[in-house]
Order: sequence, then structure tokens, then C-alpha cells
Amino acid sequence: MTVAELNKTNPQSSQNDAGVDLNWLAQRVEYGLYQDCVHCGLCTASCPTYVMTGDENDSPRGRIYLMRAVVDGRANASEKVREHLGLCLDCRACESACPSGVQYGKLIEPFKVALELSAKGDDRPPLLLRLLLKHLFPYANRMKLALMPARVAQSLGILKFMDSTGLIRILPKTLQRMQAMLPPKMALFPPQALPEHLSAVGPKRAKVALFTGCVTDAMTPETNHATARVLQHNGCDVEVVRGQVCCGAVSYHSGDEDGAKAFMRQNLKTFDPSKYDAIIMNAAGCGAMLKDYAHLMHHDPESVQAQAFTAKVKDISEFLVALGPIKPKNPIEMQATYHDACHLCHGQQIRNQPRQLLGMIDGLQLKPLEETEICCGAAGTYNLTQPEMSHKLGQRKAEYIEATGATMVATGNIGCQLQIQKHLHDRGNQVDVVHPVQLLDQAYGPVPKS
Ligand code: SF4
Ligand code: SF4
Repeated sequence: MTVAELNKTNPQSSQNDAGVDLNWLAQRVEYGLYQDCVHCGLCTASCPTYVMTGDENDSPRGRIYLMRAVVDGRANASEKVREHLGLCLDCRACESACPSGVQYGKLIEPFKVALELSAKGDDRPPLLLRLLLKHLFPYANRMKLALMPARVAQSLGILKFMDSTGLIRILPKTLQRMQAMLPPKMALFPPQALPEHLSAVGPKRAKVALFTGCVTDAMTPETNHATARVLQHNGCDVEVVRGQVCCGAVSYHSGDEDGAKAFMRQNLKTFDPSKYDAIIMNAAGCGAMLKDYAHLMHHDPESVQAQAFTAKVKDISEFLVALGPIKPKNPIEMQATYHDACHLCHGQQIRNQPRQLLGMIDGLQLKPLEETEICCGAAGTYNLTQPEMSHKLGQRKAEYIEATGATMVATGNIGCQLQIQKHLHDRGNQVDVVHPVQLLDQAYGPVPKS
């Protein structure tokens, strides 16, 4: 599609009207970052949306071309441009594939925020979704309250009944999609909140702070409990710092940069990096965001604090491997497979560490997964904003998982966990999806009472 055709699709825009605030963008994206792309096309085969549509505009190279065309004033942010950029998962597989070192995330993320800020009418997500993104998802306590009726309905079989009879369709589409993503076996009563201090088992090797996240804390608190116990077993004193809030990713990716920065500032106030050997994260998406604080705040008064904070953020697998993990004693006789969460493998370049940790568990066989680094379609809130592409990618991932013959899937991100679980269940497959730390926790066993 030519630039003229792209512009034509939005009759309200003119060549002089970029459709986004170019000054706002220029303050956040160095122009040279667009120029790093030499249009070689080596990234296209690794791009999930290009693989699915075969449309150059849905490839990394095409999207960089579109963004640059808007910034250069050769195109405006027309409906078509918004469609192609909106379909991007921000999975950053293109960064891993690019031999020229294009920092695609630093281009698309602010560009998507700029598109959100300037969106009008049908370009905006539905009102209910916007309200949920702003007022519910980033708040763990609100999420916990909102999940209570779902826990009760799931325990009583009401959700299953509504699903099988089609009654679920009386809910708005957004709520239907959210319901479909719920963990399938939520306990009626979630475990109690973790205490503020947990002591190392055996000789103390490190002192860490645990970042509990909002969706993980509300939906799969077991993952945080498992993370804390695994750290204790590895000789860590763990502090579950009170006053911590959402990492800011939900707000930032839905176009609310001010809201995201408010969360970021609160976290900078709450965590004193000098007190800890590491700030531990177990959700890849949030981890990538926490590691991006220094970049996102480099013009802000808190830039020095943000750098100190970022330097201490570690994914649980990254931290344990660097510390020297203690081998767990209990075997788990099982065939499992591992899905690489995009924001772990592409966003944080963490690939071997989770495999290395799972490899310490006697009896656990890790089956290789085809296309393990291709996005499962979760991508933050993508499954709510781009349900069709998300569905296609989820089904593709489930098919490859089934081909491994594994009876368990491990993945280091809550979003991938929920998405893969949903798509396996949709296919009638009851394979469980867990965080790797939950398998480790099982292999270490309970923490001895002191
Ligand atoms: S992003 Fe990298 S790999 Fe893709 S076309 Fe540009 S230079 Fe080539
Ligand atoms: S971030 Fe992912 S979906 Fe977007 S262009 Fe890169 S590879 Fe494609």
C-alpha cells in the first residue's frame, strides 16, 4: 500500500495533519532510532503478525516505515496506519532477529501511546475496557475484590454452566473475554497475603525484595508464594515491601503515560535499592517494564533513582542462576515443555536460565517446543484489544504444545500462562500451565518451620 493510499483511508486527515502529536513523540524517540533500520527484511519471518497475514505493513520493517513516514510528514496516522501498528504485539521478536540492532520497542511503544492519546471515536477501545484498564487492572486489591464473585461462581460451577449453555453471552464482550481468561482452578479463598519478612533457609546468601505485581497478586498469588519459598530455599531473606504498586505497564500501554509515571514514582519511593541485592520479579511483562524505568524516566527529576532501581531488578530465574541455585531434592516424574515469554526472551534476553533451573529437577523431562519464541497472543491486554489475532496465535501455540506430548507447560509470565491455558482448554486439552517457579517450589518442598 502506498503512502497516498494510506492517507486516503482517513478523509478527515490531511497531509499537514499528522494525526499524532509529533512534538510529543520527538521528545521521546530519537530520530536516529528509525534510521537504524536498513530494510533488510531479516526480521519478517520472526514476526508473528507478518507470519499470520503475509502483509508487509504487518511486519517490523513495514511498521518502521509507517512510523517514519508519519514522523517525516509523508503520511498521517490514518485508520489504516493505526490498524497496522495496533496489530503489533510489541513482542520484540524483531529485535532478537535484527542484525542491525534496531531497538524496535523504543519506537513502537511511545508511538502506540501517541496513537492512543490522539485516538477518537472508533479508534478508541470500548468505554468499558478503557475504564477497566484505568481503574481496575493496575490495582491488585480492586482486582481481588472484583474476582471474588468469579471465584464463587467458578467453585459452584456457575461459570461452566453459563459457558456451556451460552448464557455467558449476556455479558458485554469485554467481560466475556476476561471471564474466558480466568485461571481454571481458582481457590474459593485465595492464600493470605505474604508476610513482610521471610527468612532464608540455611546460611543467608542474599537479601531481596519481592515485587508482587497486580495481576499475579490477584489472580495467581500462589506464584508469588512459590517464588518467596524458592528464594528462601536458596538462602535469601525476602522482603515483601509494603506500598508497592503496579509497575505502570497497563497504564503506559493503554496510552496513559501520566498514570504510568505516577505508579513508577510510587515504586521508586517504596523500594530503596541500596537495601537489597536484587528486586525480584516473576512476571516477564512487568519485569521488562521495571527494567525500562531508567529509559522511560531519563528526562525526569527521578532519573538517577530510576537508574539505581533498574540496576537491581532481576527476573527470578536470572537471579537464581547468577546466585548459584541449590539443587532441589524431590523428583517430579513428568514430561513438560517450556514456552519462552516474549518479554523474557526478547525483552530481557533470558532464555537459558529457566531451562537450567528446571533441568535441576530430577525426573522432569523438558520436551522442545516448536516456535517457542513466537508470541502466544497474550501480549499484555492484546487479547482484549485484538481478540482475533490473539485467538489465532493462541490456537497456533496450543497446537505446537500438543505436538510435544507434554503434560505440563511452564512459562515465566502470568499473561502467557492464562492465554495458553485458555487455548488448550478450548481444544479440550486439560494440560496445566504453571510458572517454572511452581515446579521448583514443588521440588524443594515446604519451608521448614523455624
Ligand atoms: S528491523 Fe532490522 S532486520 Fe528488520 S528490516 Fe530493519 S534492519 Fe532489517
Ligand atoms: S514487536 Fe512483534 S509483532 Fe511487532 S513488529 Fe516486532 S515481531 Fe512483529
